[in-house]
Amino acid sequence: MSAHARKHIIERIEKKLGFSFKVKDLSPELRTQIRLSAKNIDEATKLQELIADNKKKARARQTSTSIWFIFGSIFMIGILDLRWGYAFIGLVLWGIAFWNYRGIKSINDQITLYDKDRQDKLAIVTKCVSELTPKVNEEITLLHKARTQPTIRHIHFDFSSIIQAAKGKSILLEKIECPYCNGAVKLPKSGEFIECQYCGRIIYAANIFEKLKDVLGIP
Ligand SMILES: [Zn+2]
Repeated sequence: MSAHARKHIIERIEKKLGFSFKVKDLSPELRTQIRLSAKNIDEATKLQELIADNKKKARARQTSTSIWFIFGSIFMIGILDLRWGYAFIGLVLWGIAFWNYRGIKSINDQITLYDKDRQDKLAIVTKCVSELTPKVNEEITLLHKARTQPTIRHIHFDFSSIIQAAKGKSILLEKIECPYCNGAVKLPKSGEFIECQYCGRIIYAANIFEKLKDVLGIP
């Protein structure tokens, strides 16, 4: 696979996305998919070269066909003088011209086949780009999120981690509001739940955590 082909795929995805990205940031799976679709571009390029070669061949044959035909016709004029030998040579030359002409037809048929194959490969590339674009978008967006909002997601739902998270934001948490009776309950240093000293209901660290998410800037 050529670097040019891979670059072509990436540029088309970037154009669809509206932003650029680095291939090394993608998962191995997506990188493999990009490499596979780049192969199609290389194959299409090879077919394009074959088509150009064949067109050249066809043109050369066209020229030789004309020449054989003209010479054949000149010898054929011998018929007028009843020179059968000349006429015979003319006939042979016409035969060569015809054989050449048949060759052009088969070259053109080959060109048609190559071109169809090439169109198919390019269609596969277009399909791949369409399928890859949302996947790349998803991976790059997740990566961006992970980079801008690191760690915190592994936090446990207990009071000590709430206190830790608050400290990180320079907030000193001493009391929390009971979600049931609105009583100001002293925040314990650890544990996953606490009994409200006013209404006696259980307050879970997870619930407090939910409430404090915005304050603590947790996604
Ligand atoms: Zn309460």
